[in-house]
Amino acid sequence: MRRAVILGLLIAVGSLMAAHAQPAADAPKVVEVEKVKDNLFVLRGGGGNTAVFVTASGVTVVDAKNPGWGKPILDKIKELTPKPVTTLINTHTHGDHVSGNVEFPASVEVIVQENTRANMEKMPIFKEHNNAGMAKRTFKDKLTIGRGADQVDLYYFGPGHTNGDAFVVFPALHIMHSGDIFAGKSVPLIDSANGGSMSRISDTLMKAHNGIKNVDTIINGHTPAQTTWADLREYSEFNRDLVAWMRAGLKSGKTPEQLAAEWKVPEKYKGYSSTVSTLMGGMVGRIQSLQNESK
Ligand SMILES: [Zn+2]
Repeated sequence: MRRAVILGLLIAVGSLMAAHAQPAADAPKVVEVEKVKDNLFVLRGGGGNTAVFVTASGVTVVDAKNPGWGKPILDKIKELTPKPVTTLINTHTHGDHVSGNVEFPASVEVIVQENTRANMEKMPIFKEHNNAGMAKRTFKDKLTIGRGADQVDLYYFGPGHTNGDAFVVFPALHIMHSGDIFAGKSVPLIDSANGGSMSRISDTLMKAHNGIKNVDTIINGHTPAQTTWADLREYSEFNRDLVAWMRAGLKSGKTPEQLAAEWKVPEKYKGYSSTVSTLMGGMVGRIQSLQNESK
């Protein structure tokens, strides 16, 4: 009886929170699981891709999806392992990667790059939940947690999608979660308000490619399947070429609007999406970001 009441309350609170964030909230929250290794899973649905790493002492989670998805993540993890969640890493500040944090138990240690914590402190969702799920531990350039088979390495190489994009590496598995600095093979989303940089994202990606060793598989921020280490290099080159094309167009006197209308995926980048996310001004927004950065 008491359990049923609590469950009912949880569901009510959950739907209130979700309703607050997005109108289509009563849709069932289905978390899909891909087993990548015996101790590493990708959970899809409800925002950015979530990684679940099962170690000897507990579970490390990377990213917590949209509002209302924290509990569905935790429920799904219970189906995968009896071990408790001990650690939650957020790759960056966006709501589709950090909002589920507020539903994690207070015992879970939340770790982010230091700029990301500053960005998260500006987000209403954490204020509304008395700072539940707010990051307590931060790093600047590199942080190693655990050892041996359980080791996780966190890296920061500079601005890109935001100014706090963490690369999360599971060295024993040769796998990395890239977050949204490599969300997928498409024109990047540059969040200037959170320190993202169109002019620097290519360099940051190449620093990651050259600075991190022995990774062959990448869990991207938003793709339905993993990519390769060679894809990371190519994505850096794609962004370098994209910026060069923007600069040449602007120099020739075209407006961001004219340029954006002309953009198409260069032939050498087969398989890249021709659709540009309309968030943050679409392609025009990306070009304006570059303009603002060179002022
Ligand atoms: Zn993002």
